[in-house]
Amino acid sequence: MTATIKGSLFILSAPSGAGKTTLCRALMKHFNEMIYSVSYTTREPRKNEMSGVDYHFISREEFAGKIKEEKWAEWAEVHGNYYGTSAGFLNEVLASGRDILLDIDVEGTKQILKRYPDSITIFIMPPAPEILRKRIESRGTDSREVAERRLKNAEREMAQRDLYRHIVVNDNLDEAVAEIISIVEMYLVRRPKGVRD
Ligand code: 5GP
Repeated sequence: MTATIKGSLFILSAPSGAGKTTLCRALMKHFNEMIYSVSYTTREPRKNEMSGVDYHFISREEFAGKIKEEKWAEWAEVHGNYYGTSAGFLNEVLASGRDILLDIDVEGTKQILKRYPDSITIFIMPPAPEILRKRIESRGTDSREVAERRLKNAEREMAQRDLYRHIVVNDNLDEAVAEIISIVEMYLVRRPKGVRD
């Protein structure tokens, strides 16, 4: 009998300021065969962000066209901009047997869970509301209005964290990285090598 070779889909979500980017990078460094799903967005690139690495930066028109053509595995409007995951890329990676990491918001996670109910979902919690506020404000890349919007959104997202299989508090970066690595490892070792179903 030939087993279907299929990769696992991991989702990491966190409110702005919870340290998700750093955690994602650490995870990708540790699991160097894992593929990172580079999202598409209509927001402006920040300083130091590279197209095709951090995001694929596209116009609103292009984004809307892909909604019509049903090219997104999920998409959401976050802080006034559109963000989406390419369905074609996602399916290609999973079919090839590789594992993929999605760094998406709660709305996107709900959509992915409908299509891929076996996805392994992890929510990162910031240690305390004051720390979240400080981190968002000290980022300095956003206007005051944008920072306020990010804070409100963070509260809404945290209220939905029970949707996720795992919740990790990013109190201490090294400990949070170790915890996420052990969660991912738990799923990877459960799966017999070569037979990934
Ligand atoms: P930022 O603009 O700070 O990079 O990201 C803002 C939010 O958009 C983050 O919560 C991030 O997880 C979310 N996000 C990034 N890419 C995607 C995506 O492809 N789909 C969805 N639904 N959310 C995304």
